[in-house]
Amino acid sequence: MRYLDEYRDPDLARTLLAELRRVTTRPWALMEVCGGQTHTLVRQGIDELLPGGIRMIHGPGCPVCVTPLEVLDRAMAIAQRPGVILTSFGDMLRVPGSHTDLLALRARGADVRVVYSPMDAVTLAKAYPDRQVVFLAVGFETTAPANAMAVRHAATLGLTNFSVLVSHVLVPPAMTAVLRAPTCQVQGFLAAGHVCAVMGWTEYEPIAAEFRVPIVVTGFEPLDLLEGILMAVRQLESGEHRVQNQYARAVRRDGNTAAQDAVRSVFRITDRAWRGIGAIPDSGLTLTDEYAAFDAGRRFDVGRIVVREHPECVAGDILTGDKVPTDCRAYGTACTPRTPLGAPMVSAEGTCAAYYSAGRRRPPDPEGQP
Ligand code: SF4
Repeated sequence: MRYLDEYRDPDLARTLLAELRRVTTRPWALMEVCGGQTHTLVRQGIDELLPGGIRMIHGPGCPVCVTPLEVLDRAMAIAQRPGVILTSFGDMLRVPGSHTDLLALRARGADVRVVYSPMDAVTLAKAYPDRQVVFLAVGFETTAPANAMAVRHAATLGLTNFSVLVSHVLVPPAMTAVLRAPTCQVQGFLAAGHVCAVMGWTEYEPIAAEFRVPIVVTGFEPLDLLEGILMAVRQLESGEHRVQNQYARAVRRDGNTAAQDAVRSVFRITDRAWRGIGAIPDSGLTLTDEYAAFDAGRRFDVGRIVVREHPECVAGDILTGDKVPTDCRAYGTACTPRTPLGAPMVSAEGTCAAYYSAGRRRPPDPEGQP
């Protein structure tokens, strides 16, 4: 297949669904790790078309959703410093912090700007040598190479007014944490194709072997997902547990080694907290000592941050797949994309936003509450 429409062909989808029904003999629970995959599954209604017993559990693969509240509050404290230009991607501006969000701070006079790449922030730093430009650098393995290149470029230019507030997270340790949770129901994974395009899939092989779970590297179109689910179910039905690659048009086993080298030259692995999930060992990236001068966390001392999650938001349970958005009492009432209480309703990859935009309804409350 060469064109996008072919990956959405309804006849091929029906064929894959029929094959899935044919091979499935018992219930299975699969987790799609990536929020982009969640959006396709929910928007196209694929999760509701699957044979009875096959359940998709939505994973923690939304970069905006897993950025810790503490990092957001820190970014907001830095944004309020005189002379600072705080930059990030658009979604980050609307994510609620403990007390407010970056968009509201901008309305109150803070210089908060949307950029489309971290290199735009470096360009801003060059253009405003008398201002401090800070880039809030979040995301998985997919965004880390561009952020690494931006830091290296700023270093080459000798900029002393550019820094990054880093909150990068890594997918394989999160999958391991999901599998180690006592309540884990996940029996197989669809791994995010774009992460594997950068990192390859060698890191997934020990996970598949240790936890005896099939892991299928999968793309983002409806037929990608149906084929990925079919491949995972075929493995489960035959007692296999290995890594398979459904997304061969974009992913090689070793990934993009140039991008990996760029990341390794600027970042090192560290423990990292995930919003709603908590600390996961070796699950994040931080700047190496060589590039510590570009660390906004060190450059701006904002004191101790005390965070406060919204009491009604159950984003942590949603990110680990323990609940779906329609289980949340605030879903669709107090919490909507216009009035988000939590990151999963803000982000383009958030599960709550996926459910809301697909029109999924909350079941009526037996006690008659709205
Ligand atoms: S619906 Fe809103 S309040 Fe509920 S979990 Fe999702 S983001 Fe949080």
